[in-house]
Amino acid sequence: MADPVTVVFATNNPNKLREIRELTDEQINILSLADINCEEELPETHETLRENALEKASHVFDRYQVNCFAEDTGLEIRALKGEPGVYSARYAGLQKNAEDNIALVLEKMKNIRDRRAQFRTVIALIMDGKDYFFEGIVEGRIADQPRGNTGFGYDPIFMPENHRRTFAEMSLAEKNSMSHRARAIDGLIKKFSSLDQVK
Ligand code: IMP
Repeated sequence: MADPVTVVFATNNPNKLREIRELTDEQINILSLADINCEEELPETHETLRENALEKASHVFDRYQVNCFAEDTGLEIRALKGEPGVYSARYAGLQKNAEDNIALVLEKMKNIRDRRAQFRTVIALIMDGKDYFFEGIVEGRIADQPRGNTGFGYDPIFMPENHRRTFAEMSLAEKNSMSHRARAIDGLIKKFSSLDQVK
């Protein structure tokens, strides 16, 4: 069997790290920022998920010269013209509080019948100095009330398509079987397998 690929996941979000470690097998050795002694906040200054993902990965690559990837995720609600989108983390303010964000979404969606929404994740990978991008989307609907206590962020109000339960009412394994992040990471895993074959 080929040696595992080692790559740093540039995130300060322990939930994302846990999800992505669950999704990758022993062929990919995922290091955290703590593993490389990086304790900085990562910049996110752009208007698109793709630019923000690349900005976070570039920040780590430029300072630590390690192969790394970062992701940026947004909840895109059709009736709100794609909001909160790239502003998902700070939708209700710079305190970046999940309960406040959920309350604001539910307030804006009060009396709106079209509940369609999607989560979209963009991963930027910098491998041997080259950039690669992978996207994952899961479509679904916004619940009327928060439900469930697993997961994080907007999980309590997002019901993936063909399900009445929210992501926060599912186990991590079930969320991972269909999530935006899992679909994006699939592209990353395929990229690593193809690099393996050309070695
Ligand atoms: P960011 O990608 O870290 O900027 O996250 C954007 C916002 O979306 C934050 O408020 C996160 O909590 C939220 N978020 C990111 N991924 C997920 C997810 O898988 N489920 C629910 N909320 C998420």
